[in-house]
Amino acid sequence: MYAEFELDIPDSLDGALGIMAAGAAKGVTPLAGGTNLIVDMRAGRERPVRVVGLGKIDELRGIVCDGDRISVGGRTTVADLLYSPEIAAAGPSLVEAARLFAGQMVRNAATVGGNIACGSPAADLVPPLLSLDAEVTLVNGSGTRSVPLDEYFLGYKRDLRGQDELITRVSWRRPVERSANAFYKLARRKGDAITVTGVAVTLSAEGERCSRARIALGAVAPVVMRAKRAEALLEGETLGFAAIDAAARQAAEECQPIDDVRASAGYRRHAVEALVRRLLTQTRDRLI
Ligand SMILES: Cc1cc2nc3c(=O)[nH]c(=O)nc-3n(C[C@H](O)[C@H](O)[C@H](O)COP(=O)(O)OP(=O)(O)OC[C@H]3O[C@@H](n4cnc5c(N)ncnc54)[C@H](O)[C@@H]3O)c2cc1C
Repeated sequence: MYAEFELDIPDSLDGALGIMAAGAAKGVTPLAGGTNLIVDMRAGRERPVRVVGLGKIDELRGIVCDGDRISVGGRTTVADLLYSPEIAAAGPSLVEAARLFAGQMVRNAATVGGNIACGSPAADLVPPLLSLDAEVTLVNGSGTRSVPLDEYFLGYKRDLRGQDELITRVSWRRPVERSANAFYKLARRKGDAITVTGVAVTLSAEGERCSRARIALGAVAPVVMRAKRAEALLEGETLGFAAIDAAARQAAEECQPIDDVRASAGYRRHAVEALVRRLLTQTRDRLI
């Protein structure tokens, strides 16, 4: 059973922002695909008094390539990502995350905005987006701001989104020519399972040297994190076994896993080292 709540389903972004602004004092909860929120409401973990459904706002859904930027609307679904040739070219790790995400029914409903906003350290779209240096665009009745996804999360299920703001899109610069990007999700089974450890990497190269490295880790810290000290061990270095091995060991050192029902902290740390080494080697082999 649900606790009682008011529901509005506007058909424009302006309409939704008006409702968010008017109800900001008591709080208005956005509802996108509902694959987290409805589950939490049914279980009594969330008891919103006012809900704004985003399901009719077409302007929040879609993938736009504008010059060298790729922009994905907040209400774009995981299935939209999976079947998009634009995303396959500009963020293959996101396609891989979408492929391994839940089952088809959930992928048809679950949205990019909802995955970011839920704030879970195991949210599968976040490591790929972090590895692509994505920015989140937040909009309220008074304006728009874009923040690097890397700065968006403040702690476990805490972020810098204001009460009256919606995630309208996430965007990133199209990768440079010599770069490669990959994701791997380790879970207790292949389909429909919560991530034990998720790793996304992006490498760019000039000659045999790494010009840019991004290593993003899911489900091994209170938030999805970048292993920045490991990235620094790669940048400027020849992309050989020594640098990759040092970065993999450093990433394992940097993460902050906990024991839970799915895996021990020690297993997760071991998985980070093995997966970072594997993905860096695979992406390196595509570049050199
Ligand atoms: C069976 C099942 C399997 C799942 N498997 C996976 C999986 O493999 N990987 C994974 O990462 N997740 C998984 N999930 C969790 C969930 O599907 C995802 O987190 C999904 O992306 C949430 O998106 P949504 O649109 O359904 O969000 P909702 O449930 O509608 O909302 C989630 C939260 O985000 C807020 N919100 C939604 N949209 C916006 C917006 N545009 N702006 C601001 N706030 C917003 C809501 O207020 C709410 O707090 C699974 C869930 C189920 C039920």
